[in-house]
Amino acid sequence: MAMTKTIKVTCSGADQHLNEIELAKIVQPTPVTRGTTKPKEIPARSVFPCQFCKAGKVVVTREMVEDATKKK
Ligand SMILES: [Zn+2]
Repeated sequence: MAMTKTIKVTCSGADQHLNEIELAKIVQPTPVTRGTTKPKEIPARSVFPCQFCKAGKVVVTREMVEDATKKK
C-alpha cells in the first residue's frame, strides 16, 4: 500500500460526490526554524473544489483530519 493517507469527503453539490483528498494537501509542513520543532499544522478548515463537478466544494475540518490520522 502507498504511504499516502487520504480522507474521503462528500462535496457540497447536489450529487454529493465522494472525493478522496490527500492528507498531505491539507497538512502544511511547518517551515524549519532553528531551535524549534513544531508539529505539522492542520488548518481549522480546508476547502477544495470538487473533482467531479464545478459547483461542489469539499470542506475538510481539522477534526476530520485528526480522526482520519488516528485510525489505522
Ligand atoms: Zn461534486
